[in-house]
Amino acid sequence: MRFDRLRLNGFKSFVDPTDLVIREGLTGVVGPNGCGKSNLLEALRWVMGENRPTAMRGDGMEDVIFAGTTRRSARGHAEVSLSVDNRDRLAPAGFNEADSFDIVRRITRDAGSAYKIAGRDVRARDVQMLFADASTGAHSPALVRQGQISELINAKPRNRRRILEEAAGISGLYARRHEAELKLNGAEGNLTRVDDTLDQLS
Ligand code: ATP
Repeated sequence: MRFDRLRLNGFKSFVDPTDLVIREGLTGVVGPNGCGKSNLLEALRWVMGENRPTAMRGDGMEDVIFAGTTRRSARGHAEVSLSVDNRDRLAPAGFNEADSFDIVRRITRDAGSAYKIAGRDVRARDVQMLFADASTGAHSPALVRQGQISELINAKPRNRRRILEEAAGISGLYARRHEAELKLNGAEGNLTRVDDTLDQLS
């Protein structure tokens, strides 16, 4: 799965619709301090389902919405769209017919986030799983933020293992196993209640 284009609209300092075209090979983003380079990387994490405001350098998720300046008023929503090249057919079933499709996340003040894959409403989990299965995602070690290299060097073995698991694309499997265990526990609880009821009836 290749990323073709990142489109920001009302996200942090990108109040007007802005496209970052990602071509084959290396894409460099250069500019003076404070021009929004890190905001671009955060937009990429965000559209992939990042749900920790601290990872967006904010106190709450709505802090990603353009907050206004002396000349421009604040926006009521922010939207980031990621165009994906799916010619390798790595997208999950149901979204895998097209050669390319868009993943869109939109946040509206007081209404939270909504996600779409290929124009269809989906859950945050669907977006996170799509990227986890393709060995990437909001926590991918391929997205290196400032100060992260020294954090990696000093990381505990358990944290390093998590990074390797994400790189190997098996973190999605762990998430699914955890969900399956929760369902299993729920089913066992129901069975116990059925047994109790049967005991009372007999
Ligand atoms: P540096 O080179 O210093 O690391 P940078 O190019 O990575 O800087 P960013 O950190 O991406 O810059 O952008 C910071 C800018 O984004 C600041 O000017 C900040 O005011 C602006 N900004 C962040 N959040 C918002 C928001 N919600 N609304 C408007 N502007 C915002």
